[in-house]
Amino acid sequence: MRAVDLIRRKRDSGELTPEEIHQLIAAYTHGDVPDYQMSAWLMAVVLRGMNRAETAALTEAMLHSGQVLDFSDIFGHKVDKHSTGGVGDKTSLVIAPIVAAGGLKVPMISGRGLGHSGGTLDKLESIPGFNVNLSLVEFRRILETCGCSLIGQTAEIAPADKKMYALRDVTGTVENPSLICASIMSKKLAEGIDALVLDVKTGSGAFMKKLDDAVNLAELLVETGKRMGKKVVALLTDMNQPLGRTAGNAMEIAESIDVLAGAGPADLRELCLELAAWMFFLGERVKTVEEGKKLSMDLITSGMAREKFREIVALQGGDVAVVDDPRQLVHARQTLDIVATENGYVGAIQCEQLGTAGVVLGGGREKKEDKIDPAVGLVFHKRIGDGVQRGEPLCTLHYNSDARLSEAKLLAESAYRIEPEKPNALPSLIYQTIGA
Ligand code: URA
Repeated sequence: MRAVDLIRRKRDSGELTPEEIHQLIAAYTHGDVPDYQMSAWLMAVVLRGMNRAETAALTEAMLHSGQVLDFSDIFGHKVDKHSTGGVGDKTSLVIAPIVAAGGLKVPMISGRGLGHSGGTLDKLESIPGFNVNLSLVEFRRILETCGCSLIGQTAEIAPADKKMYALRDVTGTVENPSLICASIMSKKLAEGIDALVLDVKTGSGAFMKKLDDAVNLAELLVETGKRMGKKVVALLTDMNQPLGRTAGNAMEIAESIDVLAGAGPADLRELCLELAAWMFFLGERVKTVEEGKKLSMDLITSGMAREKFREIVALQGGDVAVVDDPRQLVHARQTLDIVATENGYVGAIQCEQLGTAGVVLGGGREKKEDKIDPAVGLVFHKRIGDGVQRGEPLCTLHYNSDARLSEAKLLAESAYRIEPEKPNALPSLIYQTIGA
């Protein structure tokens, strides 16, 4: 196999055989194919696409680039949730402790920020001491001890995705259903889970902007999971505006703790309850999704979910003082309000631009080597349909350096469309469920 031949074939819209895909992924994982060739191939895939057989081969090649975990000796159903990524999407941080507090096992292998979207691992690392780089032995021990552990890909789990994810993040090669499917499912199928709930985002802040494309991705994900013998359901959810009130690593930890404490923004709380309910349902802890929602709510009001989060943080080396008092998390030194320039209503939000503004401030990566600033981010004051007065803040940038503030400001300012009339319809939180 010569990588250049596979790049050229895909560039010219040709099809690759499963063997060729397996060889390419194995060679890249072992360092025999360099990043620049993999980048070129990924771009060819983004531009030309892959068919179902190629997607299945890619998923399997990435899954088998490492170990497939087996937790069958640990008591209880193992369930997980994964989101295709968005702005302010922090549901994993809330759901994982709720579901573990309800008695299921949640072995969660997550990702870092990708493009304009945030990542669970980067958020967790804003808790001082929190270690997402556990060995598999530690991962298992914590899963057995408290029912949940949240880690990144180790060298053993889908190492091909670990390398490709970091490369895609900085080469404009995220937005392709086959690459997203293979990336998500290679990690998730390696986790030793019985069931998986997928949150497939659609809208201006999602990788799949159009509902049809998101439905296509959801079907691909569900089909892949079911073929591998897992129970899988995908919720198509809105990303035309940020989820919750914040986007930024430390800020999102604080907001998640708020939800676990029974407060927090309504949209975030509602989506977390729905996703957790599906996990309880697929994990056979409840008979109906409604029952799952009630159980999730009870686990929040009783304080058990928050206590579970505290336990996870402690077991993974994090400072539990921030769970007790999220104000102890790092804060950016400066803030800048982005204000409305006219009276009216928020008609639409270019949500990806808000995510990119956060990356520009230092909350995400533009190169693989970039270091994240956990303190920076955005606080959102207005949602689609809200009335605004000229001069009123739409959102606030939290930053530590002036270096690229004007760029972030421009992105955030032009992200909001103000209209004279209130929009007739507001985006729904959840559009449809696939695979139920
Ligand atoms: N989440 C992932 O894990 N991978 C993707 O490609 C997109 C979202």
